[in-house]
Amino acid sequence: MASTSTSTPSSTSTSTPFDAGFDGSCDGEARIARLFAITSDLLATISLEDRFTLLNPAWEHLLGWTREELEAGPIHEFMHPEDVEQTLEVLHTVQGRREEPESFTNRYRHRDGSWRWLLWSVRRDEDTWYAAVKDVTDRLWLERQALHDPLTRLPNRLLLMDRARQALARLHRSDGVVAMLFIDLDKFKEVNDNRGHDVGDSLLVSVSERLAELMRDSDTVARLGGDEFVILAEDIEGEGEALALGERVLDCLEQPFPLGSAAAVAMLASVGVSVSRSPDTDPGTMLREADLAMYRAKSAGGRRLELFDERLRRELSTHVQIEARLRDALVQHELLLAYQPILPLDGGRAVGCEALVRWRPKGGDRSENGDLLPSSFLPAAEDSDLIVQIGNRVLHMACAQAEVWRRHGIAIPVSVNISARELTELDLAERVREELVYCRLPGRALCLEVSEDAVLRDPGRARAALSDVRRLGVSIALDRFGSEESSLGLPSNLPLDVVKLDRVLVGTFDSDKDRRAMFAAAIALAKEAGLTVVAVGIETNRQLTLARELNCSVGQGFLLHGPTSPERVRLRDNAGSVTSAPWRPLVRLGGSSRR
Ligand code: C2E
Ligand code: MG
Repeated sequence: MASTSTSTPSSTSTSTPFDAGFDGSCDGEARIARLFAITSDLLATISLEDRFTLLNPAWEHLLGWTREELEAGPIHEFMHPEDVEQTLEVLHTVQGRREEPESFTNRYRHRDGSWRWLLWSVRRDEDTWYAAVKDVTDRLWLERQALHDPLTRLPNRLLLMDRARQALARLHRSDGVVAMLFIDLDKFKEVNDNRGHDVGDSLLVSVSERLAELMRDSDTVARLGGDEFVILAEDIEGEGEALALGERVLDCLEQPFPLGSAAAVAMLASVGVSVSRSPDTDPGTMLREADLAMYRAKSAGGRRLELFDERLRRELSTHVQIEARLRDALVQHELLLAYQPILPLDGGRAVGCEALVRWRPKGGDRSENGDLLPSSFLPAAEDSDLIVQIGNRVLHMACAQAEVWRRHGIAIPVSVNISARELTELDLAERVREELVYCRLPGRALCLEVSEDAVLRDPGRARAALSDVRRLGVSIALDRFGSEESSLGLPSNLPLDVVKLDRVLVGTFDSDKDRRAMFAAAIALAKEAGLTVVAVGIETNRQLTLARELNCSVGQGFLLHGPTSPERVRLRDNAGSVTSAPWRPLVRLGGSSRR
């Protein structure tokens, strides 16, 4: 912030023609001269040669220079170099006499080296400029504070929205495209948690500097908070250029950031892009669309770009409709669970059983084939917090079923799939503990299945949540290993008991020898680490043989047993099963029922 000091000049100033009139006789001119001398506003006249020809004493108080010093050189002698061109442009373009004043701001250097912001109102009359000037340093500083992020000094959401509004309004006058890029750093929280907030803060500052360097001066780089940045770019050609810009953002963040004495880190990011050609676009809508596209990129595993286009717009509007029907379905108890046993590949009793959610709309076909599969409704739920409510319901039903089976002597863990939001948006361990206590189950009665992409959304928090859950005795399975979204190796530092090979991988065992060989190594490592490896999606005898060859001892698949109702699922040596758990809402202390 510029200093607010108003030290007086070191040398005494000479009088002006106005001072000469200030002799106490108080005729009209003398009164004006008196006002001129005492006003705290700055008054000046300037010649067409850019020199001050008259200055009132307020200048000396504000800037600390004497009036002679100020008058000795051109008016830009003490002006901030960045403001000179713009100021002289105003003074040089206006010709003759003008009734309307011209306004502009610029900075002047105080004798103590600080800068003062001045708001000029100038009017030309023939060969003289008459100027009334205000010191707006404090006001601008406060405005700046209100419009900028204090850590990175980048524009904040308010300023971004204002600039976006202006950029879109300019589309009235000229054809063009405005783009917004919503950038979310994929692993920032990990850095913050593991290396401390100071390192996290300096990383955010470095990221902001790098983004600002990448952009043109006319573009805006803003920070919305946390690890979220937005770039507003104008005058671009279209979607192609916006996506190319997004690629450049991803590349520039991947160059390692030196962090003082700590090891350098490269930042991966998820970027959502929205573009508009219409001046009628609402900037808030544009930001929301870029945010939704970013969320898509993140859901697909991060380090990705996603464009908010017609396809995504249609998909989201379908999701909104499904979401509304799903909320109703939860109230109407239309969600139920199918169970699929996890079986030893050499035969024998089930060693586990996975709970898979189904939606049976009331009044619809009541056969199991009429149930809606998760792929048709979970993606819509995953766009909102609804997935957490569904997860709660599934956990409750699965635990209730596990308790019934246990009472009938079937003490195998029931596996429940956990979504990314459940991992990060609620106290998962507390939620699981509450359910185990309610159903009087030991932790080993439950296994939570998580996929790598869900963990990657927020690895630090996911790891912490899973470790807490595991402390309850609950086992943890890495789901969908070998799917397109997962990496080739096992994620490090994740507390794991089970690895489940994705059914797509198992499906290609037969045809894709290279892929099989690649995963054989990962499976061997998992076995060595004492993990149980489950081959999911065994449909043919050939796949069963290959899974055995790969050292998988247990599997899940239509060949062995498809997902079915709890009454029909066979969990012990092909003998008939036991009854399903009756619906019982979980009653909280205080009597209110939930889920
Ligand atoms: P997943 O966890 O990998 O579950 C296994 C999926 O493979 C199930 O599909 C199952 O029916 C299917 N499957 C098993 N054996 C075979 C086979 O031999 N051939 C074929 N083609 N498929 C087989 P489903 O029930 O449609 O579930 C799909 C995914 O939806 C699950 O994949 C899981 O990621 C998710 N999901 C299911 N229930 C829940 C839930 O309650 N919560 C959450 N968050 N996700 C769930
Ligand atoms: Mg699963």
